Amino acid sequence: MEFSERTIKIIIDEEKCDGCQTHACVAACKLYSRGILVLKDGKPAVEDSAEDLARKGTECLACEYACWFKGNSAITIEAPIEGLAEYQAKHGTA
Ligand code: SF4
Repeated sequence: MEFSERTIKIIIDEEKCDGCQTHACVAACKLYSRGILVLKDGKPAVEDSAEDLARKGTECLACEYACWFKGNSAITIEAPIEGLAEYQAKHGTA
């Protein structure tokens, strides 16, 4: 599943959630953000509309870190940086 906040996209590979005992992503979202990630049928889910997710998401990345350290590395967050490709091309760091 995937959803977007204002400038980032959160992608969760739910197959990796099978057997996860911690659900650390949901706890981290509740502790460090606004609890937009909820547990549904044993897996992380969102219940807000796309508009509310964009408004309520704090882009804190806590779910991704929590899953790395206590879950099964199921979360990838895409955080595009405007102008980065041009900067890398200019400085030969691409
Ligand atoms: S911590 Fe990771 S593996 Fe566990 S439920 Fe959350 S996203 Fe899935």
